Amino acid sequence: MNPSLGRTLLFALAPVFPFCACRAEKTIPANTPVPKVRVNYGRPFESRARPALIPLPPGAVEPEGWLRDWCLAAKEGYTGHMDEVDPAFCQAWASDYKMTGDKLYWPNGGWPYEGGGYWFDGLARLGYAMHDDSLINQAKTRLDVIITNMNANSILFLWWLNKNNPEDIKASEGKNYGEPEWPIWASGLLGRALAGYYAGSGDQRALRTLESAYSNGTGWATMEGWGIANIWPAYQAYLWTGNKNIEQALTEFFGKSGDEKQRHSNQRYRRLPSDKPGAEEADHGVHFCESTAAWSLGYLWTGKREFLEAALGWYRLVERECMQPHGVPVFDESYGPTGAFRGTETCDVAAYIWSQTLLLSISGEGQMADRIERAFFNAGPATVTRDFKTQHVYFQTPNRMADKSLPAYDQCTFQPKHGPLCCTAALNRIVPNYVMHMWMATYDNGLAAVQYGPCQMSALAGDGVRVRINCRTDYPFNESIEMTVKPEKKASFPLLLRIPDWCRKPALSVNGTTIKATPDARGFVRIHRKWKKGDTVRLQFPMSVQVANGTDKNLNPVAPYGTVSYGPLLFALAIPDTRDANTPDPAASWNYALNVAGGNADTGITVERGTMPARWDWPLESPLKLRADAVSFDWKPAPNAALPTAPVAATGEATKITLIPYGCTKFRVSMFPVTERAFRPPEPTRTEPAGSK
Ligand SMILES: [Zn+2]
Repeated sequence: MNPSLGRTLLFALAPVFPFCACRAEKTIPANTPVPKVRVNYGRPFESRARPALIPLPPGAVEPEGWLRDWCLAAKEGYTGHMDEVDPAFCQAWASDYKMTGDKLYWPNGGWPYEGGGYWFDGLARLGYAMHDDSLINQAKTRLDVIITNMNANSILFLWWLNKNNPEDIKASEGKNYGEPEWPIWASGLLGRALAGYYAGSGDQRALRTLESAYSNGTGWATMEGWGIANIWPAYQAYLWTGNKNIEQALTEFFGKSGDEKQRHSNQRYRRLPSDKPGAEEADHGVHFCESTAAWSLGYLWTGKREFLEAALGWYRLVERECMQPHGVPVFDESYGPTGAFRGTETCDVAAYIWSQTLLLSISGEGQMADRIERAFFNAGPATVTRDFKTQHVYFQTPNRMADKSLPAYDQCTFQPKHGPLCCTAALNRIVPNYVMHMWMATYDNGLAAVQYGPCQMSALAGDGVRVRINCRTDYPFNESIEMTVKPEKKASFPLLLRIPDWCRKPALSVNGTTIKATPDARGFVRIHRKWKKGDTVRLQFPMSVQVANGTDKNLNPVAPYGTVSYGPLLFALAIPDTRDANTPDPAASWNYALNVAGGNADTGITVERGTMPARWDWPLESPLKLRADAVSFDWKPAPNAALPTAPVAATGEATKITLIPYGCTKFRVSMFPVTERAFRPPEPTRTEPAGSK
């Protein structure tokens, strides 16, 4: 069956119900659906509060243009061929690889369970996004092993374990391991993959498997550590089935307070972080992203907004203290202060984008989409070689020069795989999760363009009318987006368009008539009209060069730096990788300080545009380049001296340096030393660094 047709049937047949969060909190039990008005993509059962935006099933958004090229590279590279990367990916959730006892813990052999969950998640979603039967069948074949073997005694998706066997329970909970609940965590990732596969396929067997895993035993809901990964798939299983056991378990999870001082506890994410310097101990990045995301669902489940506020507060903290210019915080592996040599784990690029996507859906705040675009367009491509096939990094750093003595050099090198294999697997989630969430649905049967890029979108709007929207653009490598709206018949519905926060003078027209592009408080413009075939929406997001300053607080004294952005893209001085992604051009010069006018002054940085290449692979020969004033100086960075600790004297040779998008570089400087002219100290932050490694 054509995947998009299957999807249509699935969601058209699903009963849908309205809901009012403010009324429902006190009067309507969580699982009491009240049939009234059809909601496209509404779920048969709902929690007390509704998300602001409803994610579309994978496959509703199909990549085009440069984004399709990148998806194809993923298909032809890692995502379509993980079995060839390491035997662990052949073993992942395979019928002949059934670890028990201590072997369920990752250093003892359980590694494929986490890796499989991550990989299948990316594999299924990429398959549906590209409408590619070979990828879909690959995902189906692997997930079918779990689907066909699950039974009433299984422990989550670990179908060969028996919930009545104390030894199996003990092994799955893994309380003696360094990371307790690890097998249960890996099960949660498999649950996420299965939920994505079900949303794309409508395969009822997959839904029964999800329901069975989360209703036959509910020990997952009493866990306070890494077991948190199960909350999102369990919540999805409830929305689709209304299962009473799952309902009770989620109510128990969100209702009880645990001990947040316990190792790997997720409990502190139910509250706002303290602003007191040093009050909050740094956490592992993946644990941070997964825990905050899951607790934000506490708002939807209970109707208590403080859960959402808490999650938003934690992200404000890392945004303020730990954000790297490429769009993902320092997570190496814990979060820590922004720094030129501080690393960000590839797992966290995937986890951060996923957590912001969930927050975007729940809150409806366009700010989250700004964060997602910044992370996806910059940190995303820096994780992997241009072919998406041969090598990837474990950590990326804003500055990566030639010197092998620089910190974490091995983990910052491109390798076919890294030990542990987490990043090799999580890499596959980055691209499809961006593509499938570019558009979302609204509860008043509208469609919202939340993240931009070339794509074809096909979804129901208005009174269940299928609408196709073709987005022609090279965004973010240019500023204009043209959308052609093609409803099957004339249809009245709201179209929401996100206005990026960095864009000062957006322009918008429908069929040539200018419409005011002033965003609402959430960052969206809303056009409600009767749409007909061929209606054309034109968006223009003029970009301007932004020079931002900050200090690398890992150094003593702190070191000033400057970064250069243009729209959502971070720009860097590339040190060409001439032979491979680990061999910098020895003749390249990179010892420069930025010498542009800082602050709000005209930076004097000029923009050069070329044509997009025939096939996009994040090339050094970028279609977009900036030319900026710099001075050379004697710069010898060291592990504990990433940047000069004071502005550089502008006495060296003045020159123009060429900058390209950060994502097109493998060696680079993106956190630049600065001259006095280029440095305008930022406002002091309210707190000291949130944590260090
Ligand atoms: Zn990793």
